[in-house]
Amino acid sequence: MADPKGFMTTPRQDWPRRPVEERVRDWNEVYVPGALLPIINKQADRCMDCGVPFCHEACPLGNLIPEWNDLVSRDDWRAASDRLHATNNFPEFTGRLCPAPCEAGCVLAINQPAVTIKNVECAIADRAWAEGFAPPRPPERLSGSTVAVIGSGPTGLAAAQQLTRAGHTVAVYERDDRLGGLMRYGIPEFKMEKHHLERRLEQMEAEGTKFRTSTVVGRDIGALELRSRYDAVVIATGATAWRELPVTGRELAGIHQAMEYLPLANRVCEGDLEVSPLSAAGRHVVIVGGGDTGADCLGTAVRQRAASVTQLDIYTQPGEERDEDAEPWPTYPKIYRMSAAHEEAGDLRTAPAAHADARLFAASTLRFTGDAGGHVRSLHLVEVDAGRRPLPDTGRELPADMVLLALGFSGPDRQDGLIDQLGLRLERRGTIARDAGFATNVPGVFAAGDAARGQSLIVWAIAEGRAVAAAVDRHLTGSATLPAPIGPYDRPMRV
Ligand SMILES: Cc1cc2nc3c(=O)[nH]c(=O)nc-3n(C[C@H](O)[C@H](O)[C@H](O)COP(=O)(O)OP(=O)(O)OC[C@H]3O[C@@H](n4cnc5c(N)ncnc54)[C@H](O)[C@@H]3O)c2cc1C
Ligand code: SF4
Repeated sequence: MADPKGFMTTPRQDWPRRPVEERVRDWNEVYVPGALLPIINKQADRCMDCGVPFCHEACPLGNLIPEWNDLVSRDDWRAASDRLHATNNFPEFTGRLCPAPCEAGCVLAINQPAVTIKNVECAIADRAWAEGFAPPRPPERLSGSTVAVIGSGPTGLAAAQQLTRAGHTVAVYERDDRLGGLMRYGIPEFKMEKHHLERRLEQMEAEGTKFRTSTVVGRDIGALELRSRYDAVVIATGATAWRELPVTGRELAGIHQAMEYLPLANRVCEGDLEVSPLSAAGRHVVIVGGGDTGADCLGTAVRQRAASVTQLDIYTQPGEERDEDAEPWPTYPKIYRMSAAHEEAGDLRTAPAAHADARLFAASTLRFTGDAGGHVRSLHLVEVDAGRRPLPDTGRELPADMVLLALGFSGPDRQDGLIDQLGLRLERRGTIARDAGFATNVPGVFAAGDAARGQSLIVWAIAEGRAVAAAVDRHLTGSATLPAPIGPYDRPMRV
């Protein structure tokens, strides 16, 4: 803590976003380039170096937050990078994409704005790359053991990096043509430019991790064959089976799942397509689902020049402050948040009724109606109470010639046959069952990330990847040398 009074003298200042009119005309990240570094030392100085740092407890990676806040405030970027990378393989991803449970748990947040922990993390990560503080770290010697990792999302990549660095020979199998999981084709470029991903993948290749893209395990290579070829297998296939909306009119043309829509927009940014075949341009778009995936659809539709965009959330509008009884500090509260996409939609007045927020809360979709050609034209909704019971006389019809369903994911995709071929035991909710050591019922096969935990966050996925790597390493060598930040049954802090 370079300045013991920093938290009293310096107000919180976030990394400024570019003006809405400017940023909706491109797909680049929403932040002002170069505007973080000049403010970040003073922001890090706001950290009180708490005796019991709840920020650290709130982060599943156990990030050493007070330590790197101190190092940044003292301008020691190399040491800050070392401390950051000691617990997090990919801080440039979490520094951009994490909802920051650490900030909700920051002691300062009890009575004033939290330390900008996520911004400090991002500044360290970017500076580490710029100054060469994160070179490839290939192992000094090989163990002779081999591991197949199925899935190249943050879980698979973190597991592969940890196991490669521990000396095992690791191959990552990925069904898509490019690596990165949901960070590649789900998360839009304006939240994280993909060159951050490419740079990390280059580092991993230089360390010795092998990548096999466009390979569906279960179809292009049998799961049992893969198991027999390797000493251990890690399943990190994500939870990509999407939830449906079984209402009248669902079969109409123009109604798509978010993960049918977002990957095509990402492919335009990758240069694979000139325009998306599912573009929102000129359409009245309604997004069903109030979560982050819905917000990603919103930002994408705004950039594609939709005629109007509305996002429906079935939950009632949360308050601006945390509910101290239901979600006291240091838990992560459900409060009214304005993401970059919501800000854009609000400023541009994209909702059909031109109100300032594109979101309609407490809105439940009843049915869709279409035109004679079988194309969706409107969405019928009703307002609901907190128990999701319809309120009388609240029915409405919204113009909709494109509907995007962002209702979450139920568990791993079973169509590729991987789960059945291995005979994996599942939990009741469809995720892959595992024991306290991340092992499935099949000897030598481990499961981690969204595939086993259920739909989660990148920070949890990285923690899962690190923890499953420790379990696999123990299985292969009989000793525990790698860190395991979480157990399979750990969950976010709640009351
Ligand atoms: C649109 C969207 C936006 C999100 N935004 C955020 C955000 O801003 N911040 C955040 O923290 N979290 C976000 N999330 C959640 C986050 O992306 C996930 O929790 C995280 O990616 C899970 O990581 P994973 O590695 O377990 O799975 P995934 O990222 O889903 O990766 C699994 C990989 O396995 C591959 N695979 C599946 N089956 C096979 C097979 N049989 N053979 C070979 N490969 C296979 C898939 O193609 C995929 O690449 C978002 C999710 C979505 C859908
Ligand atoms: S809880 Fe907040 S103030 Fe305390 S050490 Fe963590 S970041 Fe610093």
